Amino acid sequence: MSFHYLFKFIIIGDSAVGKSCLLLQFTDNRFQTTHDLTVGVEFGARLVKIDNKNIKLQIWDTAGQETFRSITRNYYRGAAGALLVYDITRRETFEHLTSWLEDTTNNSNPNLNILLVGNKSDLEENRAVSFEEGLNFAKENGMRFIETSAKTALNVEKAFMETAEAIYQNI
Ligand code: GDP
Repeated sequence: MSFHYLFKFIIIGDSAVGKSCLLLQFTDNRFQTTHDLTVGVEFGARLVKIDNKNIKLQIWDTAGQETFRSITRNYYRGAAGALLVYDITRRETFEHLTSWLEDTTNNSNPNLNILLVGNKSDLEENRAVSFEEGLNFAKENGMRFIETSAKTALNVEKAFMETAEAIYQNI
């Protein structure tokens, strides 16, 4: 199918925060419970409409590279949007955000539109990072913020679409 624009998205953050699941939920409306690096999707795509224009979102997933912190410059190259993801039930994934941001600043284009995503919001009983902490960290670093659940699909569509709209506004 033809499209007017192609936006490259990347999903970054610690291993097992739900990056592949967010991608799968957005592109395929599915959720997968087993964490299997070998099934890590390399990238997905979906055609969306903004302002009556067809826009292809091409979304790259690390496919396990982040385990070794070996994400290459190639991964960041040409990216217009990024979802920086942590797991609200694992505090260390929130504490590592600063180093992910440094990595991003060093490797991506300065206009990269970054959305901070606190994933696994369905696991409220195991929450280890409050909504306010996420929001404050995002504000301090000039990012937008959302909490999602790749399991229930809560806010997954919104996370990708708001980022796509923000990029579109800046074309
Ligand atoms: P990645 O390494 O960041 O790509 O993480 P995955 O997408 O492979 O997810 C890691 C694990 O967390 C898997 O067992 C998923 O089923 C689980 N998971 C991912 N997102 C959610 C979520 O929103 N809620 C819950 N309860 N589990 C999730």
